[in-house]
Amino acid sequence: MSDHWIGGRRVTSPIRFDDISPIDGSVLAHVSRACPEEVDLAVDTAEKAFTHWRRTTRERRAELLHKIADGVEKRLDELAAVETSDNGALLRSHLRGVMPRVAHNFRFFADWLVDEVCHPDFDTRGHTNRVSWDPAGVCALITPWNAPLMLASWKIAPALAAGDTVVLKPAEWTPLTATLLAEITAEAGLPDGVFNVVQGHGENTGQHLVNNPRLRRISFTGSVPTGKAIARAAAANLVPTSLELGGKSPLIVFADADLDLAVKLAVEQYDNAGQVCLAGVRLLVEESVAAEFLAGFLTRADALKQGDPRDPATDVGPLIHRRQLDRVDGFVRRAVADGARVLLGGGPNTELGGLYYRPTLLTDVRPGSEILTEEVFGPVLTLQTFRREEDAVAMANDTRFGLAATLVTGDEDRARRVTEQLVAGTVWVNCFFVRDLRAPFGGSRESGIGREGGNWSFDFYCDVKNTVTAGQGWRHG
Ligand code: NAD
Repeated sequence: MSDHWIGGRRVTSPIRFDDISPIDGSVLAHVSRACPEEVDLAVDTAEKAFTHWRRTTRERRAELLHKIADGVEKRLDELAAVETSDNGALLRSHLRGVMPRVAHNFRFFADWLVDEVCHPDFDTRGHTNRVSWDPAGVCALITPWNAPLMLASWKIAPALAAGDTVVLKPAEWTPLTATLLAEITAEAGLPDGVFNVVQGHGENTGQHLVNNPRLRRISFTGSVPTGKAIARAAAANLVPTSLELGGKSPLIVFADADLDLAVKLAVEQYDNAGQVCLAGVRLLVEESVAAEFLAGFLTRADALKQGDPRDPATDVGPLIHRRQLDRVDGFVRRAVADGARVLLGGGPNTELGGLYYRPTLLTDVRPGSEILTEEVFGPVLTLQTFRREEDAVAMANDTRFGLAATLVTGDEDRARRVTEQLVAGTVWVNCFFVRDLRAPFGGSRESGIGREGGNWSFDFYCDVKNTVTAGQGWRHG
């Protein structure tokens, strides 16, 4: 069972849908599907809770967020196991990286609220300006399935820290850890109604939620088409919206690079079976080292072990859903029909059956073809070569996305030069996926609108107010 969480209690719906594990197709839960009345109830409840939560001191809010982090750490094994069964990502990653990160999200924004969210007052011709960060109201948070609790907590923590109340709608393919988090918030002592969860599908539950005119913020992570639908709904009510969308990021390897490092970083792009928004899926390699790079890449990628994500030896698990597998395979088949050559993989792993797709590398891809322009969101990389630095930059930027870029080079000047020209929210130089919560995170072009992280999160989740006070006019005595 997986239900909604509204006003500090479980709420069930008469209509349910099955939550299926990508590992073996088993039914994990019969999930309540929120109807419009239940969605509205969640927003009403969050709005009522806002009246007292907004007046709760920063210190108390921070204390409660730390207690939620304690609860996540206490139930880390359970959260990791449930998330793996729900979305098929590696258990060892959930245990070592993802769930500790969830706890860290709560601790970070608690501490940032208390230590950093301030602004020096300043004087204007005898008047004092005082900038304050006021809580905004009810936030709708809508999240995808590829890193469910990580991405949800990255929004929930700053929203609660800011003094806002929350209605979370997790992805319909991965509803389970949101339900566990709801229990954890209650155990931590978070007042009823401050954090609410509605379960359901995007096109009805999600759409009804973002249409609600009483929302004060919408933060969404997911695909570009959904982002556009949400932006339209938000525009109708003038609700500030943060959109973290898809990508088609390049990984550029120059001839002066440490090639072992370049190969290692390139093969890492198969992590989470390629279902990572930031993945550098377009490998752009300088022609003079392309053969050597490819040999190293194939050796390393061949050694990846595909299988059950609960097995600690597994490197690449299943895709999330049959629909996703068919979509990924469709991209590969059409690319091959269009002249692409398969250097690795190229289809489902028939030995394993189920939803396993072989790590795939394609070359001789036609410029402008969909395999180079559309987000595949699976373990599929393309390999292209370039001769000159300016060609690499042009190829890297030849996309309507702008989420991230990875650069591998031994030349510091080149790194600076190229980085300046890349259109991307994050550029990694000689590394990948190093994330610090103080840093801005988000995408350019169709990869999104806005930045979150550190002050950027508080900018988004708060109504920033400036109060100008004259030095005279007080009645004393
Ligand atoms: P999706 O857009 O299909 O769904 C995301 C969420 O939106 C789900 O909860 C879904 O139910 C909901 N939704 C769908 N239609 C809606 C509507 N009309 N109104 C309101 N809510 C609606 O995305 P997905 O397939 O779950 O996730 C994969 C996508 O997410 C990829 O494009 C990936 O790049 C992107 N992503 C981006 C980031 C980032 O930080 N930029 C991180 C992870 C994933």
